[in-house]
Amino acid sequence: MNANDRFIALQPQTHTGCASAPVLKERGQREVFCGLTGIVWLHRKIQDAFFLVVGSRTCAHLIQSAAGVMIFAEPRFATAIIDERDLAGLADAQDELDRVVTRLLERRGEIRTLFLVGSCPSEVIKLDLSRAAARLNQRFAPQVRVLNYSGSGIETTFTQGEDACLAALVPTLPAAPADARASLVVVGALADVVEDQFSRLFAQIGLGHVAFLPARRSDAMPAVGPNTRYLLAQPFLADTARALERRGARRIAAPFPLGVEALNIRSRNRLAPPPAAEI
Ligand code: SF4
Repeated sequence: MNANDRFIALQPQTHTGCASAPVLKERGQREVFCGLTGIVWLHRKIQDAFFLVVGSRTCAHLIQSAAGVMIFAEPRFATAIIDERDLAGLADAQDELDRVVTRLLERRGEIRTLFLVGSCPSEVIKLDLSRAAARLNQRFAPQVRVLNYSGSGIETTFTQGEDACLAALVPTLPAAPADARASLVVVGALADVVEDQFSRLFAQIGLGHVAFLPARRSDAMPAVGPNTRYLLAQPFLADTARALERRGARRIAAPFPLGVEALNIRSRNRLAPPPAAEI
């Protein structure tokens, strides 16, 4: 046996270059995380909200490792663990949820909006979180508003979590009267610095009545009515858009700054010949 016989080539050696590389095609958001991941950016955006995932240890690990939390900061998300007793039907999960929420709200007096977030396990045991939210609202509103949406991997993928969260918020937005001044709502969680830039640019072009959904605080959510126009800052907010239309708002169609559509528009613009006047 010579020295070269000890090595087994893992791949056949070919020299055809990148022309022969397989083409990877985007086929929707099927190979990504579940909708719980939206909590990673949403909890940083709505500063007096709390996201309580009703799920398993897997859900807790996902959120904890994806979002991280500094040890000296109070987290604004947590997981109410559904354990074997709940799965076996030996405990009343609704009673346990009430206990967890009561303890949480007693300890964290600054919470103004509490999201109960459904997961795969809560879906599997058919835990009705909308019923839980209605019951808890009777106890804690108006101090705390309790909403629910699903971030489960069975129902949602990645960005659908944000869509479901914002769609749950829309029915609670204040109503703008039919004769209210025309206003614009930018929909989709943006980094604060981007939101501030948007506000500056809108003010420069004379648009004064601009609000953002979600707002940074629960008591600053925008009013919606027939004179509201909205702009989607992300391409994945279809449920939120439908909910806003049901409230009378109308969408301003605009190209999205992200994803395939934006890429196509940009490359078309770059490749297009300059207009004759500029030559
Ligand atoms: S919701 Fe489902 S997919 Fe997401 S972390 Fe929990 S168990 Fe996993």
